[in-house]
Amino acid sequence: MEKYNFVVIGSGPAGQRAAIQAAKLGRSVLLVEDHSRIGGACLHTGTIPSKTLREAILYLTGWRQRGFYGRSYRVKERITAADLTQRLDITVRHEIDVIQHKMYRNYVTTMSGRASFDGPHQIRIELDDNEPVVVEADFVLIATGSRPAQPENVSFNATNVVDSDHIVQMETLPRNLVVVGAGVIGMEYASMLNALDINVTVVDARTEILGFIDAEIVDEFVHHLRDRGVKLRLGETVESVENIDAHNIVVHLKSGKRIKADMVLFAAGRLSNTDNLRLDNAGIVPDERGRIAVDKHYRTTIEHIYAAGDVIGFPALASTSMEQGRHTACHAFGGSLLEFREDLYPFGIYAVPEMSVVGLTEEQLRVEKVPYESGVARFRETSRGQILGLREGLLKMLFHLETRQLLGVHIVGEGATELIHVGQAVLAHAGTLDYFVNTVFNYPTLAEAYKVAALDAFNKM
Ligand SMILES: Cc1cc2nc3c(=O)[nH]c(=O)nc-3n(C[C@H](O)[C@H](O)[C@H](O)COP(=O)(O)OP(=O)(O)OC[C@H]3O[C@@H](n4cnc5c(N)ncnc54)[C@H](O)[C@@H]3O)c2cc1C
Repeated sequence: MEKYNFVVIGSGPAGQRAAIQAAKLGRSVLLVEDHSRIGGACLHTGTIPSKTLREAILYLTGWRQRGFYGRSYRVKERITAADLTQRLDITVRHEIDVIQHKMYRNYVTTMSGRASFDGPHQIRIELDDNEPVVVEADFVLIATGSRPAQPENVSFNATNVVDSDHIVQMETLPRNLVVVGAGVIGMEYASMLNALDINVTVVDARTEILGFIDAEIVDEFVHHLRDRGVKLRLGETVESVENIDAHNIVVHLKSGKRIKADMVLFAAGRLSNTDNLRLDNAGIVPDERGRIAVDKHYRTTIEHIYAAGDVIGFPALASTSMEQGRHTACHAFGGSLLEFREDLYPFGIYAVPEMSVVGLTEEQLRVEKVPYESGVARFRETSRGQILGLREGLLKMLFHLETRQLLGVHIVGEGATELIHVGQAVLAHAGTLDYFVNTVFNYPTLAEAYKVAALDAFNKM
């Protein structure tokens, strides 16, 4: 039986980073992937496809130039699904090549097949055409990710009743789309497809969207969505989906309302991929959503078996999964470890417009009775914003009223997911308002909004 120091199950961000880190620490590593291509849901159905589609849409619709040339401006007049997926295919091919090369360079052995536990140290790998093989592992990482939850009363068909796995391969663009689920994935797709002038209705049982984001940022976002004609049906639950033919769907809501569409996207929750792992042979019991419980080093209840990424649940991001994966390898093989500061996790929502946040919200500060002051800058107040023709976008910072320490940064608008890292670094080093007031920023940049917002807070304090 072949033996490895580390067997990693799943080649998404968590598995990749773990495998490379263990290899760099001089260990023998086997990375097993069920899918025919390396990269995980992140590369094939999740992060990378959705962000590539977004970029293709923003380019082809001339979205970023419309501030100057008007709403009818487009780089391509009739945009088809093929225009979008073409860019996706190129991006995915490049990414696979980069990941595969990293594995070769670091002497990580990769194997295509479905892994499961024969015992706590024995991993069985079912291969497509050959007999299964069983390997022995000193340490194991479960990084098998998650998949969309599909409500039982809905018949998915991968063409017009779809989840987020299917939509990346859509063959025709809908004219009327219903998105069920106003979470991050739902709002990203709703807003980016609406940028193609598709009529979009979002349905969610909750009465507020993106409850973990600062309310002022969400208000600004919702204002833009409504302005563009996106309909939000909040506090509504889907009763059934009537699929009349390829172009006619009726979504029945429990309230009795009906919404006609030609495509429905369900983006309402995810389940962890643990059902095929035969976890009982390893002595691990997942919860009802398939999630595996771990300690602060991502160790399961079995000491030599780790779990990281979506399979353990929140925050279920590629960004955090990578670091969790790397952490497991460092912990198992004596690499240097720093404790995670979860309060410094940035959240990026690649909607149109995009949003990103780090630190505390105004709502949290009020609940915790922390005295604070806010400073706000609108992107249109910056020269860079004018040059880019931005009409939307704001950056808000929250500072402690007495210590002047930065407590949170909240951004909506162009570049938010990049800009946030300035605030994140200052937060991590317990920086204060004075840093922003006294620092020279490149001019003209959107980052200058940090200074404008700081001066706004300064003048109020
Ligand atoms: C539409 C969408 C958009 C997203 N956008 C973002 C974003 O902008 N930013 C961000 O940070 N995150 C984003 N995410 C989340 C991100 O994609 C996930 O958090 C990330 O992919 C999780 O990585 P992972 O390594 O845990 O698993 P995954 O990427 O899910 O990979 C797990 C792999 O394990 C394999 N596997 C499963 N079972 C077995 C088995 N038994 N044997 C062998 N292999 C197996 C699967 O085939 C899969 O390839 C998005 C997700 C979705 C769905």
